[in-house]
Amino acid sequence: MNLIEVKNCYKVYNNGVTAIADLNLAIARGEFVFVIGASGSGKSTLIKMLYREEKPTNGKVFVGGINVAKLRNSKVFKLRRKLGIVFQDFKLLPKLTVYENVAFALEAIGLHSKEIRPKVIKALENVGLKDKMRSFPNQLSGGEQQRVCIARSIVNEPKLLICDEPTGNLDPDISREIVSILDKINKEFGTTIIMATHDRDIVNKMKKRVILLENGVLASDEKKGSYVVHESH
Ligand code: ADP
Repeated sequence: MNLIEVKNCYKVYNNGVTAIADLNLAIARGEFVFVIGASGSGKSTLIKMLYREEKPTNGKVFVGGINVAKLRNSKVFKLRRKLGIVFQDFKLLPKLTVYENVAFALEAIGLHSKEIRPKVIKALENVGLKDKMRSFPNQLSGGEQQRVCIARSIVNEPKLLICDEPTGNLDPDISREIVSILDKINKEFGTTIIMATHDRDIVNKMKKRVILLENGVLASDEKKGSYVVHESH
C-alpha cells in the first residue's frame, strides 16, 4: 500500500481560486520526493492537505490508508502525531531550550521524562546538535535552528516527514547541509520525505523524484528529476 494517495483532488478556496485541480498522485513508503513549481502553483496547498491544515473541496487524500479529507476534527491531532512537519520559519518556542523544544511534543502526549530523554538525545544526535541542547533558539544560527526543528519533527519516529520550503531562509551551503540531514533520515530510518522547494541547486544535485505543479495541475512527475520551473511574472 502507498503511504500517500491523492485521488481526483481539487482545492478551491473561498475566494474562488482553484489551487489544486484534478490531482492524482501516489507516493510509496520510503520515497524522497521534491514538490516544485512557481509561486502560487499549489505546493503549499498540497502539503497542507496532507496534514489536514486544508481540506480538499473534492476528491480523496489518503495518508497511511486514512482518507484525511474525511477525518473528523477531533481526530486530526492523532494524524499530526504520526507526522513530522518542518516549515520555512522555524516556529521554535523562544523561552525553551533546544532540549525542551524537542521534548515538548513528547511531553504533550504524556510520555514519562525517563522515556523522553533518550529519544530527545537521539534526535539531537541525528542532526548533530547534542552539544547545543542547553542553548536557547536565539543563541543558534538559522541552520542550527532548522536542525532543531528537524530533531523535533523526527523525535516521535514518524513514517512521514513533510517539509514546506525548509531551506527558504538559509544560505546555499547551509541549505545543502539541511537536505543532507533529511537524506540521511530517509536512508537510515526509511522515513518518507516530501519537500516543497524553490531550491534549484538542491533539486538538481539530489536526483530524487520531482513532482512539478503548474497552476494546481500535475505538470510532470520524474523519477530522477531536475528543477524545471517556468516562473510566471
Ligand atoms: P505555492 O505554495 O506553490 O506558492 P499555494 O498553495 O500557496 O502555492 O497557493 C496556490 C494558489 O492558491 C495561489 O493562487 C494562492 O493565492 C491561493 N491561495 C493559497 N492559500 C489561500 C487561501 N487561504 N485563501 C485563498 N487563496 C489561497
